[in-house]
Parts: sequence; structure tokens; C-alpha cells
Amino acid sequence: MVELTDEQLQRYARQLILPDVDLEGQQRLLSSGVLIVGAGGLGCPVAQYLSGAGVGRLRLADDDQVDFSNLPRQVAFDESDIGQSKVEALAKRLARANSDTAIDARPEKFDARTASAMLADIDLVIDATDSLQARLDIDNATHDAGLPWIMGSAVRMAGQWVVFDADRELGCYHCLVTQPEAAGGAGCAQLGILGPVAGLVAMHQSVMAIKLLLGLPVPWGELHIADPWSGEYLAMPITKRTGCPICQASA
Ligand SMILES: [Zn+2]
Repeated sequence: MVELTDEQLQRYARQLILPDVDLEGQQRLLSSGVLIVGAGGLGCPVAQYLSGAGVGRLRLADDDQVDFSNLPRQVAFDESDIGQSKVEALAKRLARANSDTAIDARPEKFDARTASAMLADIDLVIDATDSLQARLDIDNATHDAGLPWIMGSAVRMAGQWVVFDADRELGCYHCLVTQPEAAGGAGCAQLGILGPVAGLVAMHQSVMAIKLLLGLPVPWGELHIADPWSGEYLAMPITKRTGCPICQASA
């Protein structure tokens, strides 16, 4: 385990005094690697909070460029970033805030072709994609690699998040969504999104990621639905779907 420097003891002081974090937890965070797929409304705040908490390595994957329509919720970007690669603009912002975090910015899509290179030396994957197909690809690749992942989505005024265990003992994303649904899935560009709703989902993903990296219990296999506009929040266990290609294979 790495020794903390005086500057790190000062930087992380407010979380080091939390019994659930402590010195050992901080060392765990500093030696962890997280892949964040998508550098948009979910990916920006998740990356900022995980880097802020001292996660040692962040890999960012997104092939998109910053657009004016991103600025209301993609809070790591400003007007000078318009037209720039999202992962490169986000990496610059993160490096200015915390040089402890090694950033690996990859201006490419996560898919079946790029998955194995993207997952190398990674402990946890966070879905921040706004794409059903990308989530199916993440589900497949992390299942094959034996990694947990945290799904998140936000459209219009509501969002959802799920923490999937490495072995999918409590079901998987393929149990929730099937391939044909993915083909017809509409995202924020068609349906709209209120900025803070994306932020709310990103905060849940960030807290779950920190708990998971600390080795603390998380609510595996539960679909959490948050509708802050109406103030309704609920959670339900995922049930394994008959014919699910992943759960059947591992049964
Ligand atoms: Zn399944």
C-alpha cells in the first residue's frame, strides 16, 4: 500500500476522519482504477468526484466533441472547450484539480472491439453513456472480465442506476433490456434532459463507486429509480430473466 504524503493527508483530511474511509480506505482509493465510459452529463461529475476523492487512475472513453448543447449539464466544460475532444477537455480539467489521479483519456467508443484494451488494469466500470447498446456491450465485457459495473441513465426529469456484481448473481443488464429494445432506444438528444437530474444520477454512481472501491456493502442488483421532479424514489430487485444470454450461460 502507498504511504500518504503530507499534502495528501491535508487534501483528503475531511474524508480521512470518516471511519469508513480512514487511512487504509484512502490507500485503497489511491490504488484503484476506474473506467468511465462517456464524458457527458454523467461522466463529467463522476470523474470530478472520483478524482476529487483520490481514485488513483481514471480511464475516460468517449469519441465525442464538446457542443454548446452540452454545457447545461456537462459541468467540467466551458465555452473555450467547444469543438474539443470531450475526454481531452475533461482530462485537462481533472489534472488541474488533482494531480494525484493518473488520467488515461481515450477519444474512442467502448464496444466489443475496444473492450479488452479498455478494461486492462481496471477495478470498476461506470456507464455514463446515454446508449442502451453501449450498456449491453459493457455488461458483456465486464461479465467476461469478472468486473462489477455501475449503470446510470437520465432522461427528461428522471433517472435510474444499478450496481451489477462481477458474477451477476443477482441478474444483469441483459435481464432488464433486450437487443431489439436497444436498437430502438432514444436518448437525451431526442427526449431532452434537465441538467441537475443527470447530476443526481452521477452523484449516486459516485457514492456507490467509492463504497465499492472501499470494499463496503453496496445494493447489488437493485434498480433504483429517482424522479426528483415529483420527489419519488424507489428501488426494486432485478429478477433473472429466462433466456437471458448472460445469466443462462453462468447458471
Ligand atoms: Zn441476465
